[in-house]
Amino acid sequence: MRYSDAVIALTGCYPQASPDEAAKLTDADIIAGTKDRSGIPALVEECLADRHRIVSISPYIKGEPFEPIVCSRFDDNTRAFVKIQDGCDQFCSYCMIPFARGRCRSKPIEIVRREIADIAANGKKEIVLTGINLAFYGREFGYDMADAAKVCSETEGIERIRLGSLEPEMMSEDMLMRLAAIPQFCPQFHLSLQSGCDRTLRAMNRKYTAEEYYQLTERIRRIFPDCSFTTDVMVGFPQETDEDFAESAAFVKKIGFAKVHVFRYSRRHGTRADKMDGQVPENVKTVRWQKMTAAAGECREKYLASLVGKTVPVLFERENSTEFHHGYAPDYTLIKISRKNPEKSLRNRIISVIIESSSSDDCFGRPEHLSY
Ligand code: SF4
Repeated sequence: MRYSDAVIALTGCYPQASPDEAAKLTDADIIAGTKDRSGIPALVEECLADRHRIVSISPYIKGEPFEPIVCSRFDDNTRAFVKIQDGCDQFCSYCMIPFARGRCRSKPIEIVRREIADIAANGKKEIVLTGINLAFYGREFGYDMADAAKVCSETEGIERIRLGSLEPEMMSEDMLMRLAAIPQFCPQFHLSLQSGCDRTLRAMNRKYTAEEYYQLTERIRRIFPDCSFTTDVMVGFPQETDEDFAESAAFVKKIGFAKVHVFRYSRRHGTRADKMDGQVPENVKTVRWQKMTAAAGECREKYLASLVGKTVPVLFERENSTEFHHGYAPDYTLIKISRKNPEKSLRNRIISVIIESSSSDDCFGRPEHLSY
């Protein structure tokens, strides 16, 4: 064994949600939950001092504040993910998150401001604001996600601001308008759908109907004409019939998503959905997954083809061998351009690109200006 004296720590949602089960896993020296993560280095020190096993999992208490973990070292990616919100109060019937991450809480905006300044000082141009239920950001303080995005936009050096996954029911018109007023805001909306069938949405305890979701996308399209929509969709939820599934697949096509992550429902012990009758057999889930993936692929291809002829600013992230520079447009489409000079890197530069063609997964273009 290469590192026989290594300390192994098991942490995250599993030990937090199932502490007794996790505590029995004797291969781990430290078992910690999702709470008090900033204390993990101290637990490692303690364990190294006299090699004893430590189980440190404390339950979340309603109303406790966000635990800010400040990053002091940065990798060389062009994009930084900044977690500003944790926990969830929604209790969707299939989900363990409210048990594993506690209730909604937010990182105070002044901490966000300092963190973004550090990130910008380290040369990063793009920020992605993330959270478990990001659309609830700031509720306890009287501000919201658009305020956090504004703080990012006021930081010198930040040229792009994105949002992570969003729950559709909290996207108010006022918040959208304030986001639209931020020049660096990238109009890619990852609106978690889960199902396009109302019967399934109700069984999932989601708080919107398919029609409400559709109306939201229409409103966003009016405010952000160049926006894209991405989402997550689950197939094979308990009691989902062939008709429910067909309704969900048709809805995915109706929205015309740029990208869909398709999941098969998997049971989570302790959730309401786990106890429901009518669990869908695995072979049926697989067939539905294949069909939904095909529908999502069709949408993606169509969306990418619709971009041909447009000129978009691309933030380049990496080179692929000697052939291509890879970067992303504001709507999060992957754009490639040919490498004229194999020695030259465009990393972390924003260049205007005319899109000339598309494939099933990306677009290909040429720089608008010859000197780049
Ligand atoms: S699926 Fe999302 S909104 Fe629903 S309970 Fe889980 S984290 Fe909350």
